[in-house]
Amino acid sequence: MKVTYDFKGQVALVTGAASGMGLDTARAFAKAGAAVTLADVSEAALKKAVDEITAAGGKAIGVVCDVSDEAQIAAMVKRTVDEFGRLDAAFNNAGIQIPASEIADQSIEDYDRISAINQRGVWACMKHELAQMRQQGSGAIVNCSSIGGLTGRALIAAYHGTKHGVIGLTRSAALEYATRGVRVNAVCPGTIDTPMVSSMLDKGMLAMDDLLRDLPMKRLGRGEEIADAVLWLCSSGSTFVTGQALAVDGGFTVY
Ligand code: NAD
Repeated sequence: MKVTYDFKGQVALVTGAASGMGLDTARAFAKAGAAVTLADVSEAALKKAVDEITAAGGKAIGVVCDVSDEAQIAAMVKRTVDEFGRLDAAFNNAGIQIPASEIADQSIEDYDRISAINQRGVWACMKHELAQMRQQGSGAIVNCSSIGGLTGRALIAAYHGTKHGVIGLTRSAALEYATRGVRVNAVCPGTIDTPMVSSMLDKGMLAMDDLLRDLPMKRLGRGEEIADAVLWLCSSGSTFVTGQALAVDGGFTVY
């Protein structure tokens, strides 16, 4: 039996919500009764996602937002509060991968680009979400790290650096707000079957045989399995959980 959550009357915000696990999480929040802001850089995909959720009876708006731009983030949070009145849950999920490269050969432009989205973007989203949640005295934030935040891997050091950084931001924010009704956690997805992973497989950055050999469950994860973890971390079922980096990886990091 699948656990279900009741987020009726609550407001959720998801970045990177037009694809992959962000889209699955936005769908799950809407299905559980939350009003949802979906934010993404991809306007066309965002419109499709919002249309799908509202056609299914959910309450959702789409906001075009590049999380590497603080002004756009401020506007996204403001739009959410203007539209729905508050902010109860946020999944700071938007992230990118860059081409595999030895550090010695990597361009500083690639490093800065991935840092601005995957790490500084999470910080800037938290900054504006926490300002609202601090005022409310309630809220739950989940930041998207990765098994790359818990382990190292040759040729994608910059990505892993950003995902380790997300865990440091998460732990520190959790301590800042622990007595003020706001919880902050991270999810660390294993290899999940999303467009990001398909693209890495297509480019030869990953090989399915190697992946399956290293995965205890011998399968990739599904976006809905990350959504389930995010909803739990934002729900009344996890009120004593803060500052954690929860691996949702089919046992990958247990080795
Ligand atoms: P995805 O590529 O399917 O979706 C990412 C979404 O983020 C896209 O809709 C994209 O348009 C959006 N996005 C990209 N840059 C953005 C920006 N600057 N501002 C706003 N939106 C932006 O990827 P996914 O696999 O669902 O990954 C989502 C998150 O999960 C990322 O942070 C990724 O690093 C992380 N992650 C993925 C895996 C995996 O195996 N798929 C594993 C661990 C962590």
